[in-house]
Amino acid sequence: MHASVPTDLPALLAAMPKAELHIHIEGSLEPELMFQLARRNGVTLPYASVEDLRKAYAFSNLQSFLDIYYAGASVLLHEQDFHDMAWAYLQRARHDNVLRAEIFFDPQTHTARGVSMETVMGGLHRACTDAKNLGVDAELILCFLRHLSEQEAFETLEAALPLRDRFIGVGLDSSEVGHPPEKFARVFARCRELGLHLVAHAGEEGPPEYVWSALDVLKVERIDHGVQSARDPALMQRLAQDRIPLTVCPLSNLKLRVFPDLAQHNLRALLDAGLVATVNSDDPAYFGGYINANFLQTFAATGLDVRHAYQLARNSFEGSFAQASAKRRYIERLDVEFNAA
Ligand SMILES: [Zn+2]
Repeated sequence: MHASVPTDLPALLAAMPKAELHIHIEGSLEPELMFQLARRNGVTLPYASVEDLRKAYAFSNLQSFLDIYYAGASVLLHEQDFHDMAWAYLQRARHDNVLRAEIFFDPQTHTARGVSMETVMGGLHRACTDAKNLGVDAELILCFLRHLSEQEAFETLEAALPLRDRFIGVGLDSSEVGHPPEKFARVFARCRELGLHLVAHAGEEGPPEYVWSALDVLKVERIDHGVQSARDPALMQRLAQDRIPLTVCPLSNLKLRVFPDLAQHNLRALLDAGLVATVNSDDPAYFGGYINANFLQTFAATGLDVRHAYQLARNSFEGSFAQASAKRRYIERLDVEFNAA
């Protein structure tokens, strides 16, 4: 890379090709679309208006967010609803120059309401296929809700297996503290046998021990969040040595008070320690911004520079589950962007 200066860093951050590896599709449901789907489906929301709903987005921790998140998902009933939600996200991803998106979805949030796995995955997968026309490669990762039992995770996997060609891996999300990764040891072992990619949320609010057990018990290939790893030097060394990507979500961390302000976010420390850290949006409709907003606000607050920008974008491609040939193609495009800057 030729980091020629001066560079218009915000413009470069917006324009650079990138991958998004940590986005919950249900967390991309904007209040406007939520109300539109509620009307279409005759669902009554416990909020009078879009503004009323937005006001409720003053979260104090992960749980206060999850309560609203699950209420919002209640408007999703039909295949078309899931398609429309994913399509709205994919258009925003295109706008933010995302070349590859690996999208989480929470089937249990829907199957518990009587919506079938086929309905959920049918709509999401159709949107991912259509995204080729936008120039976005999109794949799905099925997440188990960790506040539910491992038995329920097994049942979810069973229901999803007839649609095995529609998702590339599994993850673990929802309320972290009190639900350590090892609770799901057997279902992850089964997914590993099936050749699925494995990721898990760990070290967002939970302790470094959860990151260790995600690695050693679940044998995940990526850690979602993982920012608490910085409290454990041996863990930092392990993550750097094994080049385990961390899918960091700065605006989510800010909203859920994992860090008191963005200036104190530890993204720079993670990069300085040689970790394969990436920037992602998590639940952008709720946390105040999509992936480019995460880049722009974090760089403005922490003083990260053009070299960090390149490294983060490159990490996102290297940390993705794309095929080697696709990764090379993405990184070539990244290099072109930086050489031109
Ligand atoms: Zn997440």
